[in-house]
Amino acid sequence: MKEFLRTKGFKMTPQRELIFRSFFELGRHVSVDELYDKVRLQDNTVGYSTVWRNLKLICRVGLAEVVNIGDGITRYDRVTNIPHGHLYCLKCKELIEFNVEQIVGMLAHKTSDYNFTPENFKIEIQGYCENCRESEVEVVEETKSDA
Ligand SMILES: [Zn+2]
Ligand SMILES: [Zn+2]
Repeated sequence: MKEFLRTKGFKMTPQRELIFRSFFELGRHVSVDELYDKVRLQDNTVGYSTVWRNLKLICRVGLAEVVNIGDGITRYDRVTNIPHGHLYCLKCKELIEFNVEQIVGMLAHKTSDYNFTPENFKIEIQGYCENCRESEVEVVEETKSDA
């Protein structure tokens, strides 16, 4: 990681190393707050803006990308080789990943009809996860009977 950053023109400091390590330990879809909390458990001298800046850096060197669902929380997702889409639960705000390799292949084929070369895909489906579905169905039925 040190070497990797150096080739990109950045220095690896102990704080930076902690922030990077914490990000990858947390796994996927990490918000700044989550990362900040985790980093603070190890070193409570690290400031919020330092965490935020380093998260930006992780994106800039291509190790993560921003996932913006539109719920006001910016999440950072580590970049992987296998394309995945997101299932977003409107209730518990959980992001579930699903494999979109096949769909991406289909889309790439489709876009070639338009003489278009795709570089990036964002596949996101909003709805309700297994745990939240039951309670949500009741709410929908209640509003229906009101109308
Ligand atoms: Zn993801
Ligand atoms: Zn849910």
